[in-house]
Amino acid sequence: MKVSVLASGSSGNSLVVSSDSGSLLVDAGMSAKRVESALDEVGVDVGHLSAVLVTHEHSDHISGLGPVARRFGLPVFATRRTHEALKTRVAGTIDAVVIESGTSQKIGDLTVSAFSVSHDCVDPVGYTITDGDHRVTVVTDLGTVGRNVRRHLSQADCVVLEFNHDERMLLDGDYPWSLKQRIMANTGHLSNTAAAEELTALVDGPLSVLILAHLSRDNNTPRLAFETAVGVLEKAGRSDVHVLLAGGGETLGPVDLGNGAYGRSRGGGVRRARAKGMMTTCTE
Ligand SMILES: [Zn+2]
Ligand SMILES: [Zn+2]
Repeated sequence: MKVSVLASGSSGNSLVVSSDSGSLLVDAGMSAKRVESALDEVGVDVGHLSAVLVTHEHSDHISGLGPVARRFGLPVFATRRTHEALKTRVAGTIDAVVIESGTSQKIGDLTVSAFSVSHDCVDPVGYTITDGDHRVTVVTDLGTVGRNVRRHLSQADCVVLEFNHDERMLLDGDYPWSLKQRIMANTGHLSNTAAAEELTALVDGPLSVLILAHLSRDNNTPRLAFETAVGVLEKAGRSDVHVLLAGGGETLGPVDLGNGAYGRSRGGGVRRARAKGMMTTCTE
């Protein structure tokens, strides 16, 4: 099973999980043209796509949804209430398929499970996708991690987790106070420290690849997010976990969970990344 991040952050989110028989897009917050060229970069043929899964209706996750679904002929999976919300946000018709949180569906040889997360929209979910051998859990856009989300995270060997902001940068920054409050709320976004704290619950599990996602351009830096994550993992004796950075206007992957190849990526095994001087080369 392979994972690639096409884009991550408030200017657009989309990632793709592939097995031998098909590929699933998670979110389509960018134009069909951008999705197509990003897929090309990570070596996924558009003809291999079988569906798009929507986490929630915020525009950075669905701005290209209608054109992407129609151009590539993909059914759109989302909860019933998210589909309702999409009706006023997505022009044209889409082939809507309901997947409710707490349920699983098989799409080709991949099993997709949806679960609720805490975020300021009608019915946000995260997804766990497995081919039976490997398990990827995707959670971006959440203000706090509850027990059920933690359970999904702790069973995955690849976790895509939001490291949205550095609390100090957010508080000291120029955003209006009302927006700062929204971001810091339980239905907002995870800070670096809040996300890193969650890692302590994962260190005894199968985690082998951690992808830091949805970093704020204004209130975070790749270096801060990376150092916060690896600090916790190193302390827990898990320097073997590969920590990769999504976003920054670049595609990430393909990360091949079967053979431990990481494609085009920033980050790496903690010691290796440091030795390579990765932290001085990442874009901030
Ligand atoms: Zn978002
Ligand atoms: Zn959102």
